[in-house]
Amino acid sequence: MAVRARGAVPMALVHTYGCQQNVADGEKIKGQLEEMGFSFTDREDEADLIIFNTCAVREHAEDRVFGNVGALKNVKRRHPSLIIALCGCMMEQEHVAERIRKSFPFVNLVFGTHVIHKLPELLFTTITQSRRVFERGDDSEDKQIVEGLPVHRDGNTKAWLTVMYGCDNFCSYCVVPYVRGRERSRTPEAIVEEFKGLVDAGYKDITLLGQNVNSYGKHLDEPVNFSQLLKMLDAVDGDYRIRFMTSHPKDATHELIDTIAQGRHISHHLHLPFQSGNNRVLKEMNRGYSREKYLDLIAYAREKILDLSLTSDVIVGFPGETYEEFLDTVSLIQTVEFTSLFTFIYSPRVGTRAAKMPDPIPAKEKSKWFAELCSEQEKIAASRCAGMVGTVQRVLVEEQNEKTGLLFGRTDGNIVVDFPGDESLIGGFADVKITSARNWILNGELNQLS
Ligand code: SAH
Ligand code: SF4
Repeated sequence: MAVRARGAVPMALVHTYGCQQNVADGEKIKGQLEEMGFSFTDREDEADLIIFNTCAVREHAEDRVFGNVGALKNVKRRHPSLIIALCGCMMEQEHVAERIRKSFPFVNLVFGTHVIHKLPELLFTTITQSRRVFERGDDSEDKQIVEGLPVHRDGNTKAWLTVMYGCDNFCSYCVVPYVRGRERSRTPEAIVEEFKGLVDAGYKDITLLGQNVNSYGKHLDEPVNFSQLLKMLDAVDGDYRIRFMTSHPKDATHELIDTIAQGRHISHHLHLPFQSGNNRVLKEMNRGYSREKYLDLIAYAREKILDLSLTSDVIVGFPGETYEEFLDTVSLIQTVEFTSLFTFIYSPRVGTRAAKMPDPIPAKEKSKWFAELCSEQEKIAASRCAGMVGTVQRVLVEEQNEKTGLLFGRTDGNIVVDFPGDESLIGGFADVKITSARNWILNGELNQLS
């Protein structure tokens, strides 16, 4: 296929927005492009092909994409042979595809999350037929899993490994089930093979991905649950850590907690989004658990895994939420003391149940609640980090800060640590003694005794 390259090799810029699943998809997009002969660039002016891999989870993410796509008009004017492609969750929404069709005529190719594997063919059609191509796949494609796609991994130390696709939960605020299709799991054989390949290649921090990993394996011909999968992977010898996200509290079991506690390589880190601390709001969100059930699970986990690091996602200002109900969220974070929180202001998504609910609280008021929650969490994170001073942490060293010269890495609980050391440590584990804490970041020094 002839891409009209301006240089010796065709150059592609692939920009991914949003969650880790999107990052993993972006690596498959890049893998295919690499096999087609593309090299990669970060510079729009140098690119022969620009792909934006978009996120639809909140309005803010979508606005950024529209703004950035709009700005490409000028790049295209300077380089008319440039091919502009958009993919990812936004493109699975009919109204978005329609807006691109009408208002962004310089976009050449639009493809959805279910047809990533068709990229070579779609690009070929775009180029050879000189027409705009829109492809979202049919119903059968949102149920299938395509194995064996080439992957261009962005890092050498950390890797993403998708274990399941889609989501069947239909939380009332969330667009994911509409844009990612039904839940489907990869076979344990395919996962173990990819996992072993990553360990052999020297990856040290492997994150298993799925919208709700706790429902992994339900629909397989021979059902396997997520704890069983974790055990299979943990049995692989090597020097590495396993993480996973996201766990849904309604499906997280004691068996899962016991598996983490007994694992050889499984991080003592659990990302368990609770979304709201109030039972009425949780019910309206269709989350399938209560505050009490969530807290019971956390109590069990803390009892079994003493150094457990907990992180979570929260939504502030769900339609109809009152200030008193919001205060239940604040009290929940005070009780649990999360290491860190991803906090979001509710954003209405077209087609979801919550988008049709009355939402009387003004945006300004929600922003105040949001600030209140963040300030409370900052205090909690700072006090948790301060409590770690004097401990020795096993840190996976990721990179060196160009300005300060300090090495940067993460503890098993996913907390950032800065410490002085030689760059030869990058990509491996180091034992670091924590000497001080700056809010949610730790400072340390190499532990001489190790
Ligand atoms: N599958 C994961 C999360 C997927 S989306 C889970 O169930 O936990 C990541 C986070 O974005 C969610 O946990 C939620 O906190 C937030 N989110 C999703 N939809 C949102 C919306 N409409 N408005 C604000 N935040 C939202
Ligand atoms: Fe969205 Fe809920 Fe599915 Fe997570 S579990 S992706 S929040 S619908």
